[in-house]
Parts: sequence; C-alpha cells; structure tokens
Amino acid sequence: MKIMKFGGTSVGKPERMHQVADLVTRDTETKIVVLSALSGTTNTLVAIGEALAKGDRDTAREVIDRLEAHYAGFITSLLAEDASRAKATAIIREHFEFLRIILRISFNDALSKDILAQGELMSTKLFSIYLEEKGIRHELLPALEFMSIDAYEEPHVPEIQQRLEQILAKHPGVGLFITQGYICRNARGEVDNLKRGGSDYSASLIAAAANASLCEIWTDIDGMHNNDPRIVDQTYPIDQLSFDEAAELAYFGAKILHPASIWPAQHYKVPVRLLNTMQPDAKGTSIVEEAGSQGVKAIAAKDGIIEVRVKSSRMLLAYGFLRKVFEVFEKYRTPIDMITTSEVAVSLTIDSAVHLDAIVRELEPFGDVEICREQSIIAIVGNQIAQTPDVLAKVFSSLTQVPVRMVSYGGSDNNISILIPGAAKQETLQRLNKGLFGLGRAS
Ligand code: ADP
Ligand code: ASP
Ligand code: MG
Repeated sequence: MKIMKFGGTSVGKPERMHQVADLVTRDTETKIVVLSALSGTTNTLVAIGEALAKGDRDTAREVIDRLEAHYAGFITSLLAEDASRAKATAIIREHFEFLRIILRISFNDALSKDILAQGELMSTKLFSIYLEEKGIRHELLPALEFMSIDAYEEPHVPEIQQRLEQILAKHPGVGLFITQGYICRNARGEVDNLKRGGSDYSASLIAAAANASLCEIWTDIDGMHNNDPRIVDQTYPIDQLSFDEAAELAYFGAKILHPASIWPAQHYKVPVRLLNTMQPDAKGTSIVEEAGSQGVKAIAAKDGIIEVRVKSSRMLLAYGFLRKVFEVFEKYRTPIDMITTSEVAVSLTIDSAVHLDAIVRELEPFGDVEICREQSIIAIVGNQIAQTPDVLAKVFSSLTQVPVRMVSYGGSDNNISILIPGAAKQETLQRLNKGLFGLGRAS
C-alpha cells in the first residue's frame, strides 16, 4: 500500500488533474490518493468565512458566485462527456447551495469549518468523476468517517487505523482509493481541519494508519530545497533528509511540509518522498531514518514569533524558577520554541499570541516582563552539525550585519536557531545562502 498526496497546484488546473490520473495509474500497487482543494479555493473559502464573521453577506455572496463560476469552467475542461459534466455540475451545485444556506443563517465558528471543508470535498468528487469517465476503477473514501482529532486538536493513529481498516475492508479487490486531505472531525463530532497545509499531515497519518510502504507528497517543486525558494535567489533540491531533519525544517517554516506532518511517518517508519507533479521523473527528496550525509543541509524561517523576556536579578538563579516560568506556558498550552538564559534574564519565544496577555500577567510576579513581536526564527538544519568544522564560524560571519536577538545551539545535533527581527529575514536567508552554501549574492 502506498499513499500519494497531491497539493493544490497539482490539482488546480484541469490538465494537471488529468496528469494526476496518469500518475496514480502508472503502476498497479494499491494506493490511497489524498487530494487538497484546487489551488486558491481554501483561501477563497477563508475569505467567505471572514466576510460572514463581519456580517458582510454581500461580499460573501459575491465571492461565492465568483468561485462557482470558476468551478463551472473547470468542469468543462476537465470532463469530455455531457453525462459526466452534468453529474459534476449537479454535485458542485449542491456544495454551492450549502454555502448559500450558510449565508442565510447566523454564523459561528463551527460553520466556518464547514465552509473550509468544501474545497477538498469538491476536488475529490471532481477527480472521482474524471476517473469514472476514463473507466478507472476506484473508491472515494470519506475522510470525515475516519480522520479525527481529540479535544486538544491532536490526531491518534490507532483510532484512525481502526476506522480506516473497517472502511477499506468493505472494498476488497479495489486498488485505488481517493480521499480528502485536511478535513477531519473534532471531539464534538463536528467538521474540523488539520490547519492550513494540513493535507500533508493527512497523508502522513493515513500512511501510518495504513502501514504503508511509502508516503509520496506530490507538489509544485522538485523536493525540499536548501533554502526558501520564494525568498532566496539560488536554491537546489536535497536528495535525502532524515526524519529529524525534515521535521525541524517543516516545523521551522519550510512550507513544502505541514509543521506536524513528519511525526506519524517517522513513528510508524514509513519513508516519505517529496516529488514534483510537473516533473514526475525528477529525483525529489527522500525522507528516511538516516541522514545520508553530514553537515548543514537547509535553512528555513518561521515568522510571527513573539519573544518573551523575564528579567529578575533576585530569582533567576534560584532553583525552581525556570520550572515556574515553564508552568505558566504549560497552563496555557503554548509551546516554547527557543530559550536562552543569562544570569539575570530568561528569554523564550512562542508563535501564538492567543494567551499572551494571561501569560504576561502570570509572569509579572517573577520579574520585569518584556514582549517583542514580529520576530523570525531562522533554523539552520543538518546532521552532526557540532562535528562539522566551521559551521558556527560561517553562520556568525554571514550575520555580521544582522541584529541577532537570540541563538540556540546544541539542543539537538540537527539545528542551530537564531532569532532576528522579521524585517531582516530576507537579508538573513540570503546571507546564509552565500555563507553556508556559496550561493547567490551576499545581501
Ligand atoms: P502544495 O499545495 O502542493 O501543498 P505548498 O505551496 O504547500 O504546495 O508547498 C510547496 C511550496 O513550498 C513550494 O512551491 C515553495 O515555494 C515552498 N517552499 C518553501 N520553502 C521550501 C523549501 N525549503 N523547499 C521547497 N519548497 C519550499
Ligand atoms: N487546502 C488546504 C489549504 O490550502 C490544505 C492543503 O492544501 O494542504 O491549506
Ligand atoms: Mg502544502
């Protein structure tokens, strides 16, 4: 059993969807194909939810009308036969009817999740009708019947596995299954999702639950690059990453993978491959247990970081002080990414401001609390970094012009993290590309 996940761009044009059908029928291995929404759809659904949250029904209606027109054009190019076009039109109409019903009722958070789910529901149904038209045998698996998260928004592989097995057992002899990425049910049984970019996470969870031999993530680029190709001049794809390296890169902002998407594959020992739908024969990136080579492999950046600094000349060195600080973050379920200490202060970073006011209130009895927003963490990721000569020297000499606020080194052998003001991100990534990989301009 193999999992093949195709992202928004891979299904975002009718001709791409045709290509996806070719890719999933290239061999006879049993597979579960996980699809994202057509590119742009989830953003549009977010915009509809935002308009409704503000009570702006006119804007929401206009956006819905435009999106429906886009799907009408998509169907005409995707499908050749009148009967399948009529079927697809009727199905898509139902989804837009649903969106228009939401326009009329009072809006809430659960409804916004229902809106977001329409993208993956529509893309998988359209793909299924296309496969049907081509006479390709397959089954559509409703992700909402097996993918779930608990009250803390965490998925549990054994539960997913149990439900998935029951569903698969109903279709003996079928070699091709199609399902939705991103969407799931929450602990209240409502429609929910695995957060933006969550189809990668779905694929990895399904790969773990199905005990798959391989999890392929098909996207619009030829693998994980050594630096963010959206920001930096010259980047190149990496042949092999360990699960640990890939998890660090995903967590610290490499958009090609959802931040949490590596752990299920790693825990259940399913190799992952990142592949390019537009260049199916390009090598891509293999993510396996072993790193394959030593040294720095790639750099990623995570934005929207908040630095929290607690200054306390009286208490910092007292034992138990750090525990009390950490307990505040634990109480508000707010993960800490970086931490540095000095004799009189401790600095921490978090990526969510949801509970920031309460956290600051509870930290204030410990000392002066300073908050600095709009920071970025730059993660320099690789294997056996400490044993690799000159890495630190190269990092620091690349950053002479950059106002570095924090440095974290040695927490694992895979990562050096630095905290910089968000405004310096592009320059920092570019300078590190030159200093560590000898690529592009220095600034
Ligand atoms: P999909 O819709 O297929 O899930 P995404 O847009 O989520 O695709 O992820 C692919 C994009 O990630 C690439 O087009 C690229 O711009 C971006 N990206 C950011 N950092 C990296 C990186 N280090 N390597 C490769 N791609 C990256
Ligand atoms: N469609 C969702 C999004 O755009 C999930 C995904 O594409 O991975 O975030
Ligand atoms: Mg993605």
